[in-house]
Amino acid sequence: MNILLLGSGGREHALAWKMLQSPQCSKLFVAPGNAGTSAIANNVNISPTDFEAVKKLVQQESIGMVVVGPEDPLVKGIYDYFKNDEALKNIPVIGPSKHGAELEGSKEFAKKFLVKNNIPTAAYESFTKETVEQGCEFLTTLKAPYVLKADGLAAGKGVLILNDLAEAQQELRNMLVDAKFGQASTKVVIEEFLDGIELSCFVLTDGESYKLLPMAKDYKRIGEGDTGLNTGGMGAVSPVPFADAGFLEKIETRIVKPTIQGLKNDNIEYKGFVFIGLIKVGNDPFVIEYNVRMGDPETEVVIPRIKSDLVEAFKALSNGTLAQTAFEIDERSAATIMMVSGGYPEDYEKGKVITGLDKVEGSIVFHAGTKDDNGSVVTNGGRVLAVTSYGVDYKEAIKKSYQNIDKLNFDKMYFRKDIGFDLG
Ligand code: AMP
Repeated sequence: MNILLLGSGGREHALAWKMLQSPQCSKLFVAPGNAGTSAIANNVNISPTDFEAVKKLVQQESIGMVVVGPEDPLVKGIYDYFKNDEALKNIPVIGPSKHGAELEGSKEFAKKFLVKNNIPTAAYESFTKETVEQGCEFLTTLKAPYVLKADGLAAGKGVLILNDLAEAQQELRNMLVDAKFGQASTKVVIEEFLDGIELSCFVLTDGESYKLLPMAKDYKRIGEGDTGLNTGGMGAVSPVPFADAGFLEKIETRIVKPTIQGLKNDNIEYKGFVFIGLIKVGNDPFVIEYNVRMGDPETEVVIPRIKSDLVEAFKALSNGTLAQTAFEIDERSAATIMMVSGGYPEDYEKGKVITGLDKVEGSIVFHAGTKDDNGSVVTNGGRVLAVTSYGVDYKEAIKKSYQNIDKLNFDKMYFRKDIGFDLG
């Protein structure tokens, strides 16, 4: 079968790497891809949200399955676009329907879904321009810090956590009245602050049954000791040492099962990944957010720990046979370290030549922001490479990644030297 994968990050390189291990995958296309995917698959320069262009490619190349990496095409309804098109309706799209993608596309939709299904989450209220003053009043009933969330997609920047009440009230006005995040902040969710340690749970579902994927923890801040600005993610480890069997059991019974049951109850079509952002408060898990696709860089540690054939599992999603499909996880730990462009997540330069890729041994280098430039691999984004390794434990995996990072170089490269520092 020919497969099309949409996206261009480290997540997509890891998915491409895994799908190509399947005897079911004859030819893989990645749109638009990066230098890493062009070395193993066929990059096609089209945008994942240009559905007309995707359709043309699918027909030209006799594609039999479309796997969606990022959230944008899902929230814009690529699943429904295929389903409603006579020529495309039998081609499986791995991802949720537009209705299911609302779990990520609207914070308010997600909160209502959580409450309706009795899934533990922070208490909340939502507000619009018309109710901004009630929102300011509601803030006075909460304790600092105050959590404000733009309802819609805001490129990962729509959540503000503020210590000062007056500042939180001002920001609420900025979001609702002055459209600080444009359309995304026509509604704002205000929620109770939860104090704990974050981790992520990943699930593959056909909307009826599910398979648990390995858990992961990522490192969001740019600076060591979790300081400085938020980024897309600077590293990740899997499994998560502090998530013991008892805690995992709580996640499955209190969160995963009611999530899948909730999708079923609401007749939401969902054949793809669910990424559940969790926070461990005391010894209990709470949901911070849903994403309707894999995370990046978590994919770069979660996917390498799946032993089973991923394309086979994707086929089972579309056939509704996931429950009968074997799904094995590698016992080893995996860790990834992100190498980023100097200046990221603020301004940075692109086009720096990357050297040493051929010297790496015992790690897998997944490309994120890279491109081919007349035979050289050059930087093409903030997050550039994810260096993933296996180990008997996370410490060994992290050590191997750092050893290989020493062999890699590009002008102004930066990476955190303390991934896993908080895990004991
Ligand atoms: P979200 O986009 O909803 O995942 O929020 C982005 C980040 O804000 C999360 O990864 C958490 O670090 C933080 N956050 C969100 N909601 C809360 C909350 N209720 N309590 C504490 N931290 C939160």
